[in-house]
Amino acid sequence: MKKIQQEEFKTTCSYCGVGCGIVAQKSSDNKITVKGDKNHPVNRGMLCSKGMNLDYVANDLSDRILYPEMRWSKSHPRERVSWHKGLDRAARVFKTLIQKYGPDSVGFYVSGQCLTEEYYIANKLTKGFLGTNNIDTNSRLCMSSAVVAYKKTFGEDSVPVSYDDIELADCFLIAGANPAWCHPILFRRLEKHKEENPEEVKVIVVDPRRTDSARFADLHLQLIPGTDIILFNAIGRRLIERGYIDKRFIKEHTENFQDYKKQAYSLSLKKAAKGCGLPVDEIKEAAEMIGRSKGFISMWAMGLNQSSVGTDKNFALLNLSLITGRVGKPGNGPFSLTGQPNAMGGREVGGMANLLAVHKNLNNPQHRQEVADFWGVDKISEKPGYTATEMFDALESGELKAVWIACTNPMVSLPDVRKAEAALKKAKFVVVQEISHKSDTLECADLVLPAAGWMEKEGTMTNSERRISYLPQELSPPGEARADVEIFCDFAQRMGFSEFNYNSTEEIYAEYCEMTKGTNIDISHLNYDRLKNEGSIQWPVPEYRHPGTTRLFEDHQFYTPSKKAIFNIPASINNTSTLPDEEFPLILTTGRVRDQWHSMTKTGKVSRLRTHYSSPVLEINPVDGIKYFIKNGEVVEVKSENGNVRLRAKITKDVRPGVLFLPMHWGKQLSSDLNRANNLTFNRVDPQSKEPDFKFTRVSVSKF
Ligand code: SF4
Repeated sequence: MKKIQQEEFKTTCSYCGVGCGIVAQKSSDNKITVKGDKNHPVNRGMLCSKGMNLDYVANDLSDRILYPEMRWSKSHPRERVSWHKGLDRAARVFKTLIQKYGPDSVGFYVSGQCLTEEYYIANKLTKGFLGTNNIDTNSRLCMSSAVVAYKKTFGEDSVPVSYDDIELADCFLIAGANPAWCHPILFRRLEKHKEENPEEVKVIVVDPRRTDSARFADLHLQLIPGTDIILFNAIGRRLIERGYIDKRFIKEHTENFQDYKKQAYSLSLKKAAKGCGLPVDEIKEAAEMIGRSKGFISMWAMGLNQSSVGTDKNFALLNLSLITGRVGKPGNGPFSLTGQPNAMGGREVGGMANLLAVHKNLNNPQHRQEVADFWGVDKISEKPGYTATEMFDALESGELKAVWIACTNPMVSLPDVRKAEAALKKAKFVVVQEISHKSDTLECADLVLPAAGWMEKEGTMTNSERRISYLPQELSPPGEARADVEIFCDFAQRMGFSEFNYNSTEEIYAEYCEMTKGTNIDISHLNYDRLKNEGSIQWPVPEYRHPGTTRLFEDHQFYTPSKKAIFNIPASINNTSTLPDEEFPLILTTGRVRDQWHSMTKTGKVSRLRTHYSSPVLEINPVDGIKYFIKNGEVVEVKSENGNVRLRAKITKDVRPGVLFLPMHWGKQLSSDLNRANNLTFNRVDPQSKEPDFKFTRVSVSKF
């Protein structure tokens, strides 16, 4: 019998922003097995259910797209074509549209799943060479509110803390996040820390749902959706009243405290508690826990970010760290939990419609010229590009004519998705660069390009704590699939840009590293060799042999012009989402379940991951069950002004009366149009971050 040889190598999990290290074994017949990397500083050998099953995803090629497909007109079916024919036509179409309608008639919609090198090249091509800023990413749906808040508070999109601060803190305020399910390994570290220090460590969870994270907490503030600003300001007021603030830090290192205090004092604790639907004592208790702690970390995710007042919610939370002086100290700081594995890497290379590479600002003429000079082009357009939802609005209006979609499935994930689908079908030309036939977005594609998946391409990613990891290529892509970076470079050269004739992915990474020199995210001394030999490292890494930076702002010198952190004041303490009325009396929030990832093109094919939730269910409180004559397990119809879904009800006290919860993963391919949560949501965005509101949609429910 033939002996199977095993080869071992290290890589990083491709799902969430926790960024767990993996040790993989590859047999001589190219089958992969995975386990947690015991020596990795993030996960210390642990993996969650999704990470543990990554080998099934890598080994199962049954859903993979193996060769390019194209249709010659909307009325023809797609047929197999060569790479040459497909990319040549794409280049001809893009050139013609740019010539006829200008560069803003084309755009790219990419993803926080893209590796940094792919993101960098797509951004350089679009902004530097095509002459438009029309490149945005599904990270817009995820953390753009946090980006705006960090920039306005600290002067730059800079997460100050590290996972290592978890074990140094004794008070955690987790708001609008369920890390027990969505950032499981980070949460395991927190759980262990609390198990070892049960009396000292306090956990507060702010969430309208009683999630597993909330069940674990010492205090669950089950507020009315959308009232977070009122709550955080009330906690702030109580901290001030009780003398739990750091006056010296406020005086020496911040600006605008008096305006903050004025807004925090605009409501009495009693009125604030009533507005949030909470007992006053719970707000007081939260303030006591924070005020008495030595190390205070706030953590948040989509519950704050995905809101029509998402940036203001972020401000209100960040302000709690400023009044208590809890930034730039071990075990302290505000920690935005990134959803996707490389959302932060994408921001670093400027992969959003309003950003430039290396954290430079599009609205700054000097920054635009610096980037143009580095790339050897005359200029970067000053006009901000279309953001994610604006892109689909522009397809609808006909202003955007061609779109290139890579590594993401907007036909499940965008708000008001039926409208987005109709808009995409109106486009003159749609390219979809994808690994799986299970993506709903393929339905709208004129050109499908088969992409390489995890382990089939090399590159880097940055996790939520600024940690850059190198991911090796250990498998050949199936069929004719190619690495995304190679596809972008090939297309760019067919557009006539010889600057994209790179010899390797490493060369692209080195170019980006060079660009970071002298900036706040300097990694000019972090080459592939160091990452391969030493493992992952946190930016900035400004000098040769620099070990990386665990914590930012330890000198309390921030990146603002005054070097002080800024108290930003929410424009209003109230939510601006459309409120429930007689016709749509309930509030729908959407989110994730434990074992699935986004639109399930990867996790959906692992049968053991479908045992936790085999299909989506609508969570509804027993009070509403009685009110609307709905029993557990019955099929119900949920309607909003936009659309409807039909699915089974789960009667549970985990949601507040008046609130419904629906998971966002299921689309048409893996289920049916009537299970798609985003049929209901609105294309309503935060005015500052342009992030859509997925957490507050007024709906009705009835038995079907
Ligand atoms: Fe992967 Fe995130 Fe799970 Fe870690 S916590 S194994 S990075 S999905």
